[in-house]
Amino acid sequence: MFRKVLIANRGEIAVRIAQTLQEMGIVAVAVYSDVDRKSLHVQVADEAPALEGASPGETYLDAHKILEVARVHGCDAIHPGYGFLSENEDFAQACHDAGVVFIGPEPRVIRSMGDKIVAKTTLARAGVPVVPGFTSEADVDAAALQRAAGNIGYPVLIKAAAGGGGKGMRIVHAEGDLPAALEAAQREAGSAFGDARIFLEKYIERPRHIEFQIFGDAHGNVVHLFERECSIQRRYQKIVEESPSPALSPELRRRMGDAAVTAARTMGYTNAGTVEFIVDQSGHFYFLEVNTRLQVEHPVTEMVTRQDLVRAQILVAAGEPLPFRTEDLRQDGHAMEVRIYAEDAARGFLPSIGRLERYVPPTGGNIRVDSGVREGSVVTVHYDPMLAKLITWAPTRDEAMARLAWALDRFVVLGVTTNIEFLRNLIEHAEFRAGRLHTHFLQEHTVAPRRAGEPTDEALLVAALSLSGTLSDAGSVRESRSAAAVVEPTSPWLRAGRWRNT
Ligand code: ADP
Repeated sequence: MFRKVLIANRGEIAVRIAQTLQEMGIVAVAVYSDVDRKSLHVQVADEAPALEGASPGETYLDAHKILEVARVHGCDAIHPGYGFLSENEDFAQACHDAGVVFIGPEPRVIRSMGDKIVAKTTLARAGVPVVPGFTSEADVDAAALQRAAGNIGYPVLIKAAAGGGGKGMRIVHAEGDLPAALEAAQREAGSAFGDARIFLEKYIERPRHIEFQIFGDAHGNVVHLFERECSIQRRYQKIVEESPSPALSPELRRRMGDAAVTAARTMGYTNAGTVEFIVDQSGHFYFLEVNTRLQVEHPVTEMVTRQDLVRAQILVAAGEPLPFRTEDLRQDGHAMEVRIYAEDAARGFLPSIGRLERYVPPTGGNIRVDSGVREGSVVTVHYDPMLAKLITWAPTRDEAMARLAWALDRFVVLGVTTNIEFLRNLIEHAEFRAGRLHTHFLQEHTVAPRRAGEPTDEALLVAALSLSGTLSDAGSVRESRSAAAVVEPTSPWLRAGRWRNT
């Protein structure tokens, strides 16, 4: 087994990986950029050498620097987390070449799945259903694309071969709009990925996003650990994830699971991965892409299967067989995750930066909080403003939602604006409760950014100013605002919102 593992990441995922490493008796080595010097992931690690630099390019994305740190500190392996270098085949290859184990699939698998055209054609050939569309390995001219789009039938979706995070994607509703959209998509893909190749897909109306967790080892074992439904998205970014999906019958689950395992076998997949599908309104499913890393939403799977996916990743990377077989795996109860962001839902989800004056995550049975921050942490413009993931488990979906609502009500974050109240309203929405989800949910339904009857920030500030008795002392404003708004989880004042009898 490894003695020392470097975590080439930051935030909640670095903290989460360190936990499993330490449980396994492996030394957890964190790395950090200048702005992250005091970050939680640095504090929880056993060793934390600096990467010295400010921008991601000089730090978490600098493959050469990270490998050098791994060498100097005698690390046997590197866990890349998600984002940053996690799906970079050159980095995976450089690790192999340097004699350091990359905790993830083989570089050739990352390469082929990173190219959506290659992924789609490979898996279609293996019998996995794909979205009808037009893909070409060769460069094709606008006229050929126009003909192809006509054959597919509008609306069509233009996608980037190297795409990710929804970049380079364009919906085209009518033939006349195609040339301009093609040009825009190619330009965007070219500048974002250095690869302007695009392909066309039939645009599926109001689909569900349902993905399967897959796992393989070097001994030929391949399993799936059921699905996660991630249909609630904003700008192609997931906000709520759950397992099981309220939309899958046992029969559809079996067929999709079989397709995911076929995909994994076709690729010769090792370690953790995710096969993403969309499911249309009549229950047909289509392969979208394979993510060759640990996903943000992996805790949902951990809660329903009671398995530690990071532990399995480490074992498999060390050459051991998978710690679970298909017959051991059960999907028990229901888990739901929300992503807590420092952003202002009332102002177009603008990131909110500042110091966390108070940070008290909820605790209780079957409530899991994966935090990247603690009280006193500073949220900056440098990184994604996700503060934490809140996950609840219960025997049924209704109970998991009730527990999530309870936990959200007790999640205290002061100093920055968060999406907590938006999430609270979202899970209260009748359509959400009924499980009628699709990827355009947030475009079609109105979810209030604040709770009904809640005072605005302006009202709170006025209250705080009058309470503090001074209009010039910003510090006491902040304190009194905290004092006015923080309540113990057991307080009856919770029911009164933020108003106090002072
Ligand atoms: P990316 O890698 O950029 O995230 P994906 O292929 O994973 O791109 O797609 C992201 C999201 O875009 C999906 O979750 C789904 O909501 C939407 N999407 C992708 N393909 C289609 C399609 N053919 N029809 C409708 N929606 C789609």
